[in-house]
Amino acid sequence: MNIVIFGPPGAGKGTQSNYIVEKYKLHQLSTGELLRKEIKNKTELGQQIVSIINSGNLVSDKVVSDLIEKHISDKNYKNRLIFDGYPRNLIQVKNLETLLIKYDQKIDFVLKLSVSLETIKKRISERKTLENRADDKENVAIKRYEMYEKNIKPVIEFYKQSNLLKVVNGEKPISEINDEISGLIEGLKG
Ligand code: AMP
Repeated sequence: MNIVIFGPPGAGKGTQSNYIVEKYKLHQLSTGELLRKEIKNKTELGQQIVSIINSGNLVSDKVVSDLIEKHISDKNYKNRLIFDGYPRNLIQVKNLETLLIKYDQKIDFVLKLSVSLETIKKRISERKTLENRADDKENVAIKRYEMYEKNIKPVIEFYKQSNLLKVVNGEKPISEINDEISGLIEGLKG
């Protein structure tokens, strides 16, 4: 089973995908995490993308596509992937489709976490204290939210048309969201 999870910054994508990874033994593929790792390790790529990430913009589609191909092509993870924060625009949807065909896989389930801007601001300011992410400053977080809103509509439309999309209210307590997601996944397994 391959899953896509998306939602605005602070929607709880990381928390929920960690839960799904544990419960269903999937491999988490968070493009944001992978990119932050490049920055932390001061790789050449990391140095190229640090200012883009810290300003709340999206890095190039080619960069993220190359990063995810390393995981999709790995036989150990075949049909055990959860895409967290990818795809984020229509070009990435198409790139992902191409890669899935190339490695003989498909997406089984797409989960969208919906959360209001007010909740996002609150959560991000709490996370800023805990994780100290450079892109969690309020103005950058709002920019990231705007980038998300601007690009995500055709992604939602694509997965709706494919009958894969499930929307979950990300405002509810974490354990309730966990249960709702489990119910959806169990239903899928039939
Ligand atoms: P996230 O951890 O998902 O909130 O991502 C943090 C930042 O990493 C984003 O604001 C972007 O700058 C970058 N990023 C993560 N995923 C993508 C993606 N799929 N496409 C482009 N940029 C991304």
